[in-house]
Amino acid sequence: MKTIVRQIFVMSSGTLTVEGSTLVPGTSFGQPKTIPVQYFLLETSKGYILVDTGNDPDVITDAVAAWGADLAGASNPVMNAEHHPYAQLGLCGVDAKDVRMVIYTHLHHDHAGAARFFPDALHVVQKAEHRWAFTPDRYFGAPYNQSDFRHDTLNWQLAEGDWVIQPGIHLVSTPGHTPGHQSIVLWDTPDCGTVILAGDAINCRENIEKDIPGGLTSDTAAAVSSLHRLSALASVSDASMLVSHEAGFFELLPKAPHALKLLDPEVRRYYEAGIRHIYHDAADPDHLL
Ligand SMILES: [Zn+2]
Repeated sequence: MKTIVRQIFVMSSGTLTVEGSTLVPGTSFGQPKTIPVQYFLLETSKGYILVDTGNDPDVITDAVAAWGADLAGASNPVMNAEHHPYAQLGLCGVDAKDVRMVIYTHLHHDHAGAARFFPDALHVVQKAEHRWAFTPDRYFGAPYNQSDFRHDTLNWQLAEGDWVIQPGIHLVSTPGHTPGHQSIVLWDTPDCGTVILAGDAINCRENIEKDIPGGLTSDTAAAVSSLHRLSALASVSDASMLVSHEAGFFELLPKAPHALKLLDPEVRRYYEAGIRHIYHDAADPDHLL
């Protein structure tokens, strides 16, 4: 398959520390878990594309001023000058004006925080996410910072369901964490094979291994379907699945300025545990047929 993707870079926006069961319900209740905030830079034959943008860089100087006391207190961000998106892009010799597109998995505060730093880009999000983020129901409004995305300078492109952005870059609808959550599939990249950027459809490997989606959901049944969809997609395409918020997994990834490389088979294929949840033992020759 042809792809416009040449290289993938993993960028860091610092860390959050959250209550453990928000990542995997029923586990680590009351225990603080420090998790990475990451996003991705795609070098393509048509210019640079970001997938998510991390936290609002104003967090570097004053998290409470940027996020309010409740959100800052619940997520305890640690973000330094080196985590500013301009500094992260600078590691790769890329300027903000070189970024032609920003694709959002969703518009939560740790994914859409630096949107306004890319006024020249086209900002791509699911229509369902855009609607929900701008007018969220009260019970689920806290993770959205209106100051992240309510800017007249932002040029939005609203996707509806599964979309092909360009050859090799595919948006896959994975609702449940939020109504318009999406994941990004990068087919047959030159150095990494097929890569799935799961976003918060999967916080960590334990979600797959235990068949339990993350604790923050707008629709838990949809979140389970999305978890299964990504596991099945990863299996049939022998993909590397990059989850959003697992410190141990993040440690294993090369970071900017080093490009992502093909991961070890064991690291890549942990989603086989999820396949067993969906299909039981698909490797059994007598299974189903
Ligand atoms: Zn989220």
